[in-house]
Amino acid sequence: MEITCSQVIGGTNSPCLAERQNSIITAGKTKNRIHCADDSIAGAVSQRACVFCGARVVLNPITDAAHLVHGPVGCASYTWDIRGSLSSGSEMFRNSFSTDLKERDVIFGGEKKLTLCIDEIVQKNSPPAIFVYATCVVGIIGDDIIAVCKAASQKHGIDVIPVESSGFISGNKIIGYRAAGNALIHLITPKEGEIIQKTKKINFLGEYNLGGEKWLVERYLREMGIEINVACTGDSTVASLKQVPGGFLNLVQCTGSMHYVARLLEEEFGTPYIDVNFFGAYNTSDSLRRIAQEYGEPHMIEAAEHLIERETERIRPEIEYYRTKLTGKRAAIYVGGAFKALAIIRQLRELGVEIVFCGTQTGKPEDYEQIHGMLNPGTVMVDDANPAEIERFLIEKKVDIMAGGVKERTLAHKLGVGFVDHNHDRKDCLAGFDGAINFAHEVYVTCCSPVWKQIRAHPDWEVYHE
Ligand code: SF4
Repeated sequence: MEITCSQVIGGTNSPCLAERQNSIITAGKTKNRIHCADDSIAGAVSQRACVFCGARVVLNPITDAAHLVHGPVGCASYTWDIRGSLSSGSEMFRNSFSTDLKERDVIFGGEKKLTLCIDEIVQKNSPPAIFVYATCVVGIIGDDIIAVCKAASQKHGIDVIPVESSGFISGNKIIGYRAAGNALIHLITPKEGEIIQKTKKINFLGEYNLGGEKWLVERYLREMGIEINVACTGDSTVASLKQVPGGFLNLVQCTGSMHYVARLLEEEFGTPYIDVNFFGAYNTSDSLRRIAQEYGEPHMIEAAEHLIERETERIRPEIEYYRTKLTGKRAAIYVGGAFKALAIIRQLRELGVEIVFCGTQTGKPEDYEQIHGMLNPGTVMVDDANPAEIERFLIEKKVDIMAGGVKERTLAHKLGVGFVDHNHDRKDCLAGFDGAINFAHEVYVTCCSPVWKQIRAHPDWEVYHE
């Protein structure tokens, strides 16, 4: 499939950098493939999070672990509060621990301070495991966090796991996912002499339980006679993650963060994996059907069909209602991973909304081919966007509603564009059939809010938004 480029980028009057030319394309104009899966360009002010943040987002939902950020206190501001996920038990993960490195530590090294911090966390909180995240400063000064973690692990008799996520080691957040994946494998791999028995249960990889999605999918699967072994990592515990090798099948939802882990688990423990997507009614139905097929049990296949028929009928009137309100609206999508972009495209189209702009932080060439296949000619696609580019296309494409994460919210709002959060800042469950209604409702209330007409009618609007 050819993806084509048309955007005129660079030059003295353009808000976009010439080096970004090949990362911005439009269907139907030229024959270039989108440039993606690469480091961000220095100075481009990418919307991407750093490597450390990529690792933190994957591991932080482990509810009873302590998450210790080895670096200046600023790095630790990236907490549960802005990357929230729900727990059915421990709330330990809502704490943010930091070694708070200062100038003196940078000069003389931070290993002693790290050791003392680990001791203090163990003494005061007794967590079953501690993840120690390396940040930029630690990478630069060369603290040996692997050695410190190993010594602490032996001293305290718990898992103290280094996460090699110095922010600067790459301009690509995917490297942070990989660092988190390696830390997870470290935790999951049975110690010498330990044997984890195989079960008929499922592992749910790349589900972070931001708004209770894991619990909702768990209900669906139970109705089909299938149990979740553990989700990686939403609402998980250290003990539950150690049971991962016992899974019958790995479901991969967030492909960007978990394909790497799924492949390692297949190699190590022989567990097969399939991609699933529980965002939107169509994707949910498709995923439930494929899971039932993997088991091959007629009663599971029948239960899946019964569930799908019942739920589809139940939500149809509400989806139809929102469709009448939203048909003809124009949407922009900018999210972390491709699996989410694909789900939002489908959901918005089911609501009659036209997608005019779509991008991701970490999409790969094959992801963009899939995305392109779902979009109309003329839609702008951007990899690793920055605020100037997003603002430009929100205006040029006359966008009514944007779906994105916390960093895109203010860009949309200040341009008078409705915004729906589909990232870690949200509190509503957006998965499954109920999630399809929640999403449609959110799109409707923000897109059709009278506030946008009011602010556009203000005499200063044109002055500030020429
Ligand atoms: S200093 Fe480095 S590790 Fe810390 S938040 Fe900034 S980029 Fe990330």
